[in-house]
Amino acid sequence: MFLCRVCGEQFRASRYNALVCGERCQKRLTRGHAFAYLAGLSKIRRDVERARHRRLDRWRLEQRQAVLDVEQQREANRSARVQRRQQRAAAKIDAAERREARYERQVEEDQARERKARIEWLVNFFGDAMDRLEYMVADSPEAKAVLALVQDVVSDTIDDELEVAMARLMPQSAG
Ligand SMILES: [Zn+2]
Repeated sequence: MFLCRVCGEQFRASRYNALVCGERCQKRLTRGHAFAYLAGLSKIRRDVERARHRRLDRWRLEQRQAVLDVEQQREANRSARVQRRQQRAAAKIDAAERREARYERQVEEDQARERKARIEWLVNFFGDAMDRLEYMVADSPEAKAVLALVQDVVSDTIDDELEVAMARLMPQSAG
């Protein structure tokens, strides 16, 4: 139950910050007639009335604070929700980037393994061919010298290629 600040009548209101019983008292309030009804009361009665108004004012302040608390909590919830959504989006992007990087690394490793296998095959093939050629040119020192030169050049090239392929495979064994 509210107490009109102008005429002193009790009234009902749905808003916690209602001060007056109706339009008429609202007009009087804006003209500066707050607590006008106290003028006709005894000193004791006036004190009692003022205490009732003070209690109502305190209650209104509490109501106002409660409304603010609810709004504040709602705002905090909202920003926490936004933050969680942003974190989830960032995590999704991270996971996609990691997947992509893993796939690229896998492709590179596969290519390096293929390259190494081809080189190893070439080493064996070349080794067999050289064995046969050495046997065939055994009687010709000139042909042997040419063959040795070919062997040096091809071996160096194969060694370089093998080194490149092994270097590509290193990250896999490290991580
Ligand atoms: Zn009134």
